[in-house]
Amino acid sequence: MIKIIVASNNQHKISEIKSIFNNNDQKYEILSLKDANILSNPDETGSTFKENALIKALDAKKFTNHIVIADDSGLIVKSLNDKPGVYSKRYAGLNATDKENNEKLIKVIEDIPVNERLASFSTVICIIIKKKIFYVKGDCKGTIITKPTGNNGFGYDPIFYVKEFKKTFAQLSEIEKNSISHRGKAIRACKELLEKELS
Ligand code: IMP
Repeated sequence: MIKIIVASNNQHKISEIKSIFNNNDQKYEILSLKDANILSNPDETGSTFKENALIKALDAKKFTNHIVIADDSGLIVKSLNDKPGVYSKRYAGLNATDKENNEKLIKVIEDIPVNERLASFSTVICIIIKKKIFYVKGDCKGTIITKPTGNNGFGYDPIFYVKEFKKTFAQLSEIEKNSISHRGKAIRACKELLEKELS
């Protein structure tokens, strides 16, 4: 099996990534930083998802010869000038919980007309194979709602409504979310890239 280190300890991200990688084959072994005993937690000082994905991937790569992938992602709300964007994780403060971030966004969005609450999730994945660096990305469009609904997923999932299922991300199973999500699209592109590069 080909080992892939995911430069993250976010169990939800890891679970989504594992589920997509092992969907059809047992070719890849996906390991979190913790699984690989890697202590990497660099400051995400970039101003774009791409820059932050590179920072995370390069830092983890210092500790391993295996393939490293790093996902940097966030929520972009059009009528809020693309906020929270790269600050999605710390929207309500440095150590903010998902609940606090959601509460802050709900408070801000309540002042905006319902038909202007369009948003999208975006992710960029940086892939390092030996010394080569690649990027893939994925987006998913939805609407922000003000009543958190559903218990699955993480982050802004309870207030991100998608018309494909007429549900929030937090009401979807992991398989359903992966079928349309930003991360699902990016990981499938990542798999394709690996197939090409490793053949
Ligand atoms: P990162 O771990 O630095 O990439 O920060 C990503 C942040 O964006 C998370 O902490 C969430 O707040 C948000 N986010 C990214 N992807 C998702 C998702 O699939 N669902 C909900 N929130 C997400």
